[in-house]
Amino acid sequence: MNASSIYSGPVFAMARRQFETVADHLDIPTDERSRIFIPKRALAVSCPITRDDGSITVFQGYRVQHHLTLGPTKGGTRFASNVDVGEVAALAIWMSWKCALAGLPYGGAKGGIAVDPRSLSRRELEALSRRYMQEMIPFVGPHTDVMAPDMGTNEQVMAWFMDTYSMYQGQTVAEVVTGKPVESGGTVGRREATGRGVAYLVKRAAETVKLELSGATAIVQGFGNVGSVAALTLQSAGVKIIGVSDHSAAYFDRGGLNIEALEQHVRRTGALEGYSTEGLFDPEDLLVQSCDILIPAAVERVITEKNAGKIQCRILAEGANGPTTPEADAILKDRPEIFVIPDILCNAGGVIVSYFEWVQGLQQLFWDEAEVNDRLNRTLEKSFQAVSRRVEMRKLTTRDAALSIGVDTVLRAKRTRGLFP
Ligand code: NAD
Repeated sequence: MNASSIYSGPVFAMARRQFETVADHLDIPTDERSRIFIPKRALAVSCPITRDDGSITVFQGYRVQHHLTLGPTKGGTRFASNVDVGEVAALAIWMSWKCALAGLPYGGAKGGIAVDPRSLSRRELEALSRRYMQEMIPFVGPHTDVMAPDMGTNEQVMAWFMDTYSMYQGQTVAEVVTGKPVESGGTVGRREATGRGVAYLVKRAAETVKLELSGATAIVQGFGNVGSVAALTLQSAGVKIIGVSDHSAAYFDRGGLNIEALEQHVRRTGALEGYSTEGLFDPEDLLVQSCDILIPAAVERVITEKNAGKIQCRILAEGANGPTTPEADAILKDRPEIFVIPDILCNAGGVIVSYFEWVQGLQQLFWDEAEVNDRLNRTLEKSFQAVSRRVEMRKLTTRDAALSIGVDTVLRAKRTRGLFP
């Protein structure tokens, strides 16, 4: 397959390797593979902003739209220092398989800015968010490409995106972005959707492996939107959270951590660091402590060939995108005692409720939280069952089963539509 040279790096290589495995399994002819895998469009923009001290800094931003076969593209925007076009492309491709697996009428997209948002003041963050969206205007729209939050962005950033786009259109276009605050056209339940979805699927996996959730133990890496909500939701189902970490610190206590207090501390200070001098732990070691449920909910490539043989859990629930490398996957394949809930299934709650937000915005008809959560669980249940069936019938790993449903759906849609002109 001849991939364009602008996409490179370890995360893109990972997405490609996963795709090739599934394409072999689905017997996709070589000449059709590039058509399915290589992103349709990519945009790189420079975003200059005036800093608080009067100087000017230029930040590099990207947006990649993977395919347009099933509808508009959809995907988050990441603000992180190491963002590059290869990583963004991989995340866009994974979004395509994720949306197709969940039955959503979208192709995948992803965007990002190479910036540590913690290094900006609130005014600088607003200026950068608005400048990025302003640069994106010819490229996005409610029926073209719909943005959402990801690592380093939140409801406030989405509100600035929506406001900037709307000011240029001369009218409010709330549906150009999802993950907005409820008071700016967002939906109830979106902020919590990804973490709640992780918790729902952990419950289903626990039933499958006959693990009693009440009294089970969990470790969560990443204590942002996804990790903290997953931890709080699982705790309310009786799970004891014994370890958490973020970019600043890790805490571990076999007796159980006070998740509410940790969450309040992060809300107040922005990070776990400084919560307590007791229970501090080596973040690297956290992932290999014995527990029933291990939830990576931060960055890519944290479960590698180095630690995959050492992790000690019954369920590996991938809240993050791409936390497990293909080398680690090969090791996990020989460890059937670990039930892997692959990222494109495990963290799909976010895009599913983003879809609900988009639908509600287009119709200007808003649902209550019970309806949002009920529809979320039903959508995840369908995907969980489809993956389980494919694992059974085709003797695949859960990851390959999930990916093959996603890839197959896009492939069939492309074949039916044909090649234009
Ligand atoms: P967030 O910015 O709210 O939180 C990220 C967390 O990860 C923070 O606690 C941060 O400190 C921590 N972190 C960063 N680098 C780390 C490291 N090296 N080790 C340990 N912790 C580290 O982001 P989020 O929205 O919770 O996203 C987390 C993951 O979930 C990402 O992979 C994202 O792509 C994925 N995801 C998010 C959503 C969503 O709706 N927000 C949906 C699907 C998938």
